[in-house]
Amino acid sequence: MNNCALYVFIGPPGSGKGTLAQLCTQELGWEQVSTGNLCRKHIAEKTEIGKEIDFTIKSGKLIPDSLMTRMIGDWFSEHRGRSIVILDGYPRTIGQAESFNTLIANMSLPLPVKVINFVIDDEKLIERLSYRLICENKECQAAYSLVPGSSQAPRKKGLCDKCNSPITKRADDSLTAIKERLKIYHQHEQELVKFFERFGYFVHKLFTDKPVRDLFDQLKREIGVST
Ligand code: AMP
Repeated sequence: MNNCALYVFIGPPGSGKGTLAQLCTQELGWEQVSTGNLCRKHIAEKTEIGKEIDFTIKSGKLIPDSLMTRMIGDWFSEHRGRSIVILDGYPRTIGQAESFNTLIANMSLPLPVKVINFVIDDEKLIERLSYRLICENKECQAAYSLVPGSSQAPRKKGLCDKCNSPITKRADDSLTAIKERLKIYHQHEQELVKFFERFGYFVHKLFTDKPVRDLFDQLKREIGVST
């Protein structure tokens, strides 16, 4: 397999992008950049950007394309030379996808680009997000599930398995914000996939209503990664 690539994880909130990306970083040594995590870090650190986007994030809306693309550009400037990178949650609109193509051209990002499209029913997502807890440590932000029988339950109640920080519900995991985020996702989904296909990017559909370990094994099989 090629040892350089940019994996673009697209999918609705709660479809498992972040959790699968974390397994890829831990077990395959890939790098992950989650735009949601970058946003939450800005908010926690009360930066100028953080103050500007706080309300937008809580209400489940998207932050402006220009700001998002600047954040991604900054991340790649600070992490030059990474060989396999997962973009988790970017691009999400056609405007961002166009800027993404410009970034690829101008910043020598890892290539080829492979898009993994996470697919799962909205009903299942609402259940998952309603029962989701996230590590409060902004360098970690590991996700846990309180869905009965989930393999992602924390080992110790209320604490992160990885860094022992408290785990809590995300501000935008309220039912109103969840519904808004799903609505927005579906507004952009089709045209985004068409955009990637038009540019000749490999687009792979992954049905994600299964335990994350099974999903990880399936992803590795389908993209030809051996460990
Ligand atoms: P996520 O953690 O991916 O669910 O993202 C949480 C929130 O961060 C989203 O609901 C948006 O408000 C913001 N966000 C994350 N990625 C993007 C993006 N690519 N474009 C615009 N807003 C984003």
